[in-house]
Amino acid sequence: MSKQINVALIGNPNTGKTSVFNALTGLNQKVANYPGITVDKKEGLCKLPRGVKAHILDLPGTYSLNASSLDENIVIELLLNKNNKDYPDVAIIVSDVENLKRNLLVFTQIKDLEIPTILVINMADRMVSNGISLDVDYLEKALNTKIALVSARKNTGIDHLKTLIANYRDLSTEPCLNASEIDKSYFERLQNAFPNQQLYKLWLVITQDVNFGKISRQEMDVAAFKTKSKSDLKRLQQKETVKRYQFINSVLKEGQTIDASKATGLRARLDRITMHKFWGYAIFFVILLSIFQAIYDWSGMPMDYIDASFAQLSEWTKATLPPGVFTDLLADGVIAGVGGVVIFIPQIAFLFLFISILEESGYMSRVVFLMDRIMRRFGLNGKSVIPLISGTACAIPAIMATRNIESWKERLITILVTPFITCSARLPVYLIIISLVIPEGRFLGLSYQALTLMFLYLIGFGMAIISAATLNRILRFRSKSFFVVEMPSFKVPLVKNVFITVFEKTKSFVFEAGKIILAISVIIWVLASNGPGDAFNKADTIIETDHANLSQLEIDQKVAAYKLEHSYIGIIGKTIEPIIRPLGYDWKIGIGLVTSFAAREVFVGTLATIYSVGADSPETLKQKMASEKRENGLPVFTLASGISLLLFYAFAMQCMSTLAVVKRETNSWKWPIIQLIGMTLIAYFISLIAFQIIQ
Ligand code: GDP
Ligand code: MG
Repeated sequence: MSKQINVALIGNPNTGKTSVFNALTGLNQKVANYPGITVDKKEGLCKLPRGVKAHILDLPGTYSLNASSLDENIVIELLLNKNNKDYPDVAIIVSDVENLKRNLLVFTQIKDLEIPTILVINMADRMVSNGISLDVDYLEKALNTKIALVSARKNTGIDHLKTLIANYRDLSTEPCLNASEIDKSYFERLQNAFPNQQLYKLWLVITQDVNFGKISRQEMDVAAFKTKSKSDLKRLQQKETVKRYQFINSVLKEGQTIDASKATGLRARLDRITMHKFWGYAIFFVILLSIFQAIYDWSGMPMDYIDASFAQLSEWTKATLPPGVFTDLLADGVIAGVGGVVIFIPQIAFLFLFISILEESGYMSRVVFLMDRIMRRFGLNGKSVIPLISGTACAIPAIMATRNIESWKERLITILVTPFITCSARLPVYLIIISLVIPEGRFLGLSYQALTLMFLYLIGFGMAIISAATLNRILRFRSKSFFVVEMPSFKVPLVKNVFITVFEKTKSFVFEAGKIILAISVIIWVLASNGPGDAFNKADTIIETDHANLSQLEIDQKVAAYKLEHSYIGIIGKTIEPIIRPLGYDWKIGIGLVTSFAAREVFVGTLATIYSVGADSPETLKQKMASEKRENGLPVFTLASGISLLLFYAFAMQCMSTLAVVKRETNSWKWPIIQLIGMTLIAYFISLIAFQIIQ
């Protein structure tokens, strides 16, 4: 048996790496993080002829091997370290036929590392409409490589690519140009100092700020570093880039012809309208509105169905298994907890469906560009839009994504305000409360409930912007910034890519968030089913002696309520009740506020657990919440308390994982603590005002 072939997919962003990856691996893939950082690491298996298998790694997009971002560092560190278990036997450089010139830069650099390469020229389906033709034989010779002309969209050329991978031993490792000519004597000295090292690798090691396995920095310092100043090295690097482009130009002049008269002008027209000063924003707003409306209209039915099924399953468990602690734990702790996770699958899937369509189609880049105009005024950067929009999924990757904002001040501000953006974990909380307290009617065909949800997203965004502007005034340090954004052409999204994104995101929600939610549900069940002293353990006798004249059913309910009140969790909730009562919350909601610090969506699971303890009818969570009464007989969830709670969740820093990430990214406890206190105070006072006014 031969070993697996290690394949790395490398290339500029948006050239179709992930699409080629999907075409090669199908669903045989997994997504993890690179150690220590939250950049997605996608790997998969590809079956080749004769039972050979290839391990495929989809690397983050990179423009060159001169690292300027975290993503690029990952690529360089892998290519410089032969000991890395992912070190490629063959590098597939994916390029876009419309942007060959720019895409080939990184190709020529990888050739210089003497790694066997295959050049994929992707998007072959767009050649005709753009009037492009290629002389593939000539290009293969001029670039010393094998070429696969591929359309990941039309699924053409993939088999040829697989054959090339299977025969990777035949690939040339000859560089295609000699970069050392930029300064012959310097490179000669370098090679003499390290005769066993590969020359271009030495050059990268000197000029980059990365880990590079075996050669130690000290050795370099002594022998080579001192012979050139930093600015001289920069100048040489620029010379290198120019030389590479000269080479690429001369090759493309022979190997590629573009007949511009055949190209169509649709892109220009679409760009004019989507980036228009007025229509651009109007279109974005309408798209947002439709997305939120669709999330509502399409996921209502499956959610009700899931809710009802779990209620039944819980009933069935209690009826079938022998009564006892284990049955209670299963029915009220585990099943209620799992139900609290599963129910949000439809909504999360729809949200990511839309986000990935917007990204896939190239529209998202327009939004970033459009928003830069606005962002600037608030001390943010066009690039802050990416964290802010990613924040709708989860603040944690969003805060990590601020790393490519060059200015520290703009980056810090983005980090501090991102948690105001409504993340998907808040969605469950919003949805259940909205469905309880906001009426079902429609206004101009839009449901009040959908409008409320959109409003919550907008005030989150608004608060982020206001805080950013405030911080911009307060924070007293200057730093410069510049803004470059990739503007890919508009494309019809690839169904396969969209499907895989939705699948991956939903899966990670279920397993990542699900674990926490389930664990906390069980802990809460334990805390709610046990309590200190007689008040809890002798609840039956206490109630029975006090209310001897009541029916058995009423007594049971009284006992259950009395027990919950005197359980451990009841004691915690009661302790904080005086603080939250002015906001319209009781101690049961207080319990939810405490537990949801682990992750916001836990709030729903907590309520599900609390209201299940001792309840005996097959009601859904929503029904249970609706019928929950205060001591004075009025419902707990009213318009006033509901809105107060929605606002609290919109603004409070309710998530310990986010705090941990902010600590890591700012490298101090100062900022996360300021953020926690600040956001909690804002949330408290806004909810307080809202409750007191509406009530
Ligand atoms: P990556 O950033 O390099 O991973 O690129 P993606 O795989 O995400 O693709 C970027 C965009 O190009 C997406 O909108 C894809 O649907 C689109 N795309 C990928 N392959 C092709 C292709 O062969 N033809 C066309 N027309 N579009 C493609
Ligand atoms: Mg990709």
